[in-house]
Amino acid sequence: MTNIDTLKVSSHLRSKAIDIVRRSILITNFHGSEQEKDLTDPANCNGFGRVRHFKLDAGKEWMKNPLPILPAAKALNVKPELQIRAQVFQNSACNWRCWYCFVDFKLLNADSKHASFLTCDEMIDLYLKEDNPAPMIDLTGGQPDLTPEWIPWMMNTLKERGLDEKIYLWSDDNLSNDYLWKYLSNEQIDLMSSYKMYSRVCCFKGIDERSFSLNTKAAPELFYNQFELCKRLLEINLDMYCYITITANTDTNFELVVAKLFDRVQQIDELLPLRIVPLRIFDSFTPIALRMNDEFKDMMQGQYAAMEVWKSELVKRFTAEQLNQPITEIKLKKY
Ligand code: SF4
Repeated sequence: MTNIDTLKVSSHLRSKAIDIVRRSILITNFHGSEQEKDLTDPANCNGFGRVRHFKLDAGKEWMKNPLPILPAAKALNVKPELQIRAQVFQNSACNWRCWYCFVDFKLLNADSKHASFLTCDEMIDLYLKEDNPAPMIDLTGGQPDLTPEWIPWMMNTLKERGLDEKIYLWSDDNLSNDYLWKYLSNEQIDLMSSYKMYSRVCCFKGIDERSFSLNTKAAPELFYNQFELCKRLLEINLDMYCYITITANTDTNFELVVAKLFDRVQQIDELLPLRIVPLRIFDSFTPIALRMNDEFKDMMQGQYAAMEVWKSELVKRFTAEQLNQPITEIKLKKY
């Protein structure tokens, strides 16, 4: 398998996915896509948006997923429910190609056949026209951080409209590049750090170099880069949470590999594993079903073995009191 040249692909996609002069982002339109077939509610915002229902329950064999329900409820000052609705906008570019991605790959190529440039004002106009708009906005992708300007631009728009303390803002990051530091001004970074109703979720892909590379098609050594980027993001004081996908071949030595992963994460912060939620991968989404092969089926099985070890590492390393704390109340020691 040839690995993706992440640096080259990122730079190419960025050049196609952002218009700096018009301050606009190439946003996916879901009409006619495979992803559209899987949407619970029809695409909204003229096809440029969708409503996602985030749920706490991830099924019997899996840990509960409090993201983004608990951080959103805290920011919105409401009682957390079992699910939350989010207005999603997807940028149309991603530098990696995870086999379990529920987005069609053709929606990740910054291809204007499936996307159009929208300013944040235009996105918010579309959102406000919807009946009963969701209480949170999720800027996702794709990899939103190929175009990191999107987040401070959206914050400025929400502030200008007096919505910054009414709508909770959430964005995803696949921990693949340093564009945030390369392209944002200090003022934009300060805005993100000080913005009251914003959190970011970073997603670690895989539990070791092999599973990382098989999952993403990126070079195995970039597995370690994820931890460096996560640390840098914590250093700028964002309200951060993490996901991890733990799909890996069943012949993996899970005891060894997962323990090593916890050691690496705890070098960033002793309590960071308590802010990480393993994401369960399902093969029921249309784009994933179309890509399925024997190796990926094996990796789907492997995630359950990894989950058992994940749970036992948590119990070994943390007290019952720590494990029972809501994810929003885990205060990292260093940050
Ligand atoms: S990084 Fe995210 S958006 Fe990109 S291919 Fe993987 S799952 Fe899909």
